Amino acid sequence: MGNHVWNDKKKFIWLLSVLLLTAFLVTSGISYKVAHDSLSQQIESNTLPLTSDNIYSEIQQDLLRPIFISSLMAQDTFVRDWTLNREQEPEKLIRYLKEIQEKYGTVTSFFVSEQSRNYYHPKGILTQIQDVEPNDAWYFRVRSLPEAEHYEINIDADTADRTKTTVFVNYKVFDFEGKFIGVTGVGLAVEKVKSLIELYQKRYNRRVFFTDRQGNVTLHGDEYDGADSLQTSAGLDTLATRILTSPSAAFSYHKNGKTIYLNSRLVPEFKWYLIVEQEEAPQEQELLNTFWGNLALSLVVTLGILFISNMTLGRYQRKLEIMASTDKLTGAANRQVFEEYFHRALEKAKSDQAAMSILLLDIDHFKKVNDNYGHSIGDLVLKTVCNLLRGQLKEQDVLCRWGGEEFLILVPEMDLSRAAEFAEQICRTISQRELKVNGVHISITASIGVAESQEQEPVEDLIKRADLALYQAKEAGRNQVALNH
Ligand code: GH3
Ligand code: MG
Ligand code: MG
Repeated sequence: MGNHVWNDKKKFIWLLSVLLLTAFLVTSGISYKVAHDSLSQQIESNTLPLTSDNIYSEIQQDLLRPIFISSLMAQDTFVRDWTLNREQEPEKLIRYLKEIQEKYGTVTSFFVSEQSRNYYHPKGILTQIQDVEPNDAWYFRVRSLPEAEHYEINIDADTADRTKTTVFVNYKVFDFEGKFIGVTGVGLAVEKVKSLIELYQKRYNRRVFFTDRQGNVTLHGDEYDGADSLQTSAGLDTLATRILTSPSAAFSYHKNGKTIYLNSRLVPEFKWYLIVEQEEAPQEQELLNTFWGNLALSLVVTLGILFISNMTLGRYQRKLEIMASTDKLTGAANRQVFEEYFHRALEKAKSDQAAMSILLLDIDHFKKVNDNYGHSIGDLVLKTVCNLLRGQLKEQDVLCRWGGEEFLILVPEMDLSRAAEFAEQICRTISQRELKVNGVHISITASIGVAESQEQEPVEDLIKRADLALYQAKEAGRNQVALNH
């Protein structure tokens, strides 16, 4: 029976822990996911586009200026008149270009005439554009731009100093009838643009770079470690088409196990895409920490609950076990558990090759005690007799309340004659003891039947023999011991 209860308890504790942990895990997981999703959503649809907007407007301030200057140059009546006038007195245009360069602080300014193919520069005529020269390909590209496109932005080595890379604004120049007469514009040092990008990166803690409409990375900061094009970027390759076919887009993708948020937008003036990327937000780590913290707390709470339930259950279980195995009135073992004690003692007696006997004790004329003094005094007498018996027993002996006023005593290590002596001693003790209850003196006696356990004898037979002896003791006049041989 004990085992059964124990298994139930184990099962209960297991079920409880699984339930609690699952509940905690699910709630922590869900709240983490909700927070994470709203953070991602926040970054994807709010923070990043705002950053992108800011950078875009700063770029407009910083980079649109050269476009504006170039457009002024292309519209300049002096430039057009001078060109139509067969480019006489080149120093006049050269001075004009020098003025532009100085006034606006550009790294270069230039004009190429369609008529002469001369490349004018603040320092003079640098070269003559050749259609076979690969370095001059830009000129022919600008010349054949669609009519609606007045300029292009090009990053190239500077014609004046081939070691320097420059961002050129190449603006088409038309005469007053709309005939193409050359290309003019200014150049910005790439370094300057790069430092702009780096400034944005630092200020917003984002990665900023540009790609052209084919997805090639055109401009980036010094610490850029990405691929040369969107199509060859890890994680981005599949998104490249979507980025390059919409004026603006917001994504998140995974790279090296991290979530990267990306915002792209077409900068129409450059025909480039501004790409702003952000790695997992720092708040993400906080969310994760909170998640693990919650789990740890849940674990502690679960352990606490399990500990308390285990203790409580254990206490109830012990209580139940005691209740099921002892007699309420006297605290002696009850009839139900006697057999278990008996078999345990029998095993031990067998292995020790020792004898074992039982004593069946019945209080004499107990009915009279009840009749004369009342039932509750009868109870008191029962308790007192039980205590008297206890005082006589050794540790290995078992006292069991067998019936109303009958006690069964198991005495291991005693053969019949020793058990008989012991029974006599008990008899004497009970009869000599005068009980004083509520001021009345009650003297009682008991009769005892003794039998020794025999090999292979079932417990019922042994008890029957003891009962027989008890009957003989009663018959013989009570307050005595009888043996069953
Ligand atoms: P005998 O000498 O032949 O054993 O006479 P007796 O009166 O003891 O015989 P019997 O077995 O007929 O009576 C036992 C009485 O014990 C009857 C019953 O009312 C009483 N009794 C049984 N259990 C309890 C108990 O828990 N408390 C009290 N007060 N009385 C009990
Ligand atoms: Mg009786
Ligand atoms: Mg009796």
